Amino acid sequence: MQTLWTQGQISVAVGDITRFEGDAIVNAANRTLLGGGGVDGAIHRAAGRDLLAACRHLRESEWPDGLPVGEVALTAGFALPARHVIHTVGPVYAKSEDRADQLASCYRKSLELAGGHGFERIAFPAISTGVYGYPPADAAQVVWQTLTETLPAWPKLEVTLVFFSRTDADTFLGEVRPLPE
Ligand code: ADP
Repeated sequence: MQTLWTQGQISVAVGDITRFEGDAIVNAANRTLLGGGGVDGAIHRAAGRDLLAACRHLRESEWPDGLPVGEVALTAGFALPARHVIHTVGPVYAKSEDRADQLASCYRKSLELAGGHGFERIAFPAISTGVYGYPPADAAQVVWQTLTETLPAWPKLEVTLVFFSRTDADTFLGEVRPLPE
């Protein structure tokens, strides 16, 4: 994983989020919590079958109808180098009217969950910008605003935004770099 840029508590990196070493990685899950493609599939493959069992247990105990969009749920990281996984469900861009609020909720609630558990190092993938179709430049604005609003409450929390491609990382940086430092 290559870090491209750091400002305050926020870093931007390129690479595979399943390799992140820290307190937690965030999973762009789907409502079933039972795994899927993209980053969700990669996280389940790297974490092993125990993660699926933990997600099944969460479904049975806390979220029988599935995890709502914008909500978060915590499991262990099992075989991952990260100690925990924060599962959240992003909006499907074409199907959601309040997609910006929902995407913001994914990030804000993940940060609050992490901060509340005393986590100090967590990583996010670019939630909803894959098969869920959220334009990366629009998502960047939502993510940056949410992080800069929420992080002052959790001054020990360091956040790495992990992009799978250099192009996606550059799109994000192109959106946020012109903002005042
Ligand atoms: P969503 O369904 O929320 O759109 P996807 O998994 O389809 O989620 O994509 C979200 C983002 O995660 C995309 O930008 C995709 O390129 C990226 N991605 C896929 N695999 C990985 C990985 N192993 N590490 C980091 N990012 C990844």
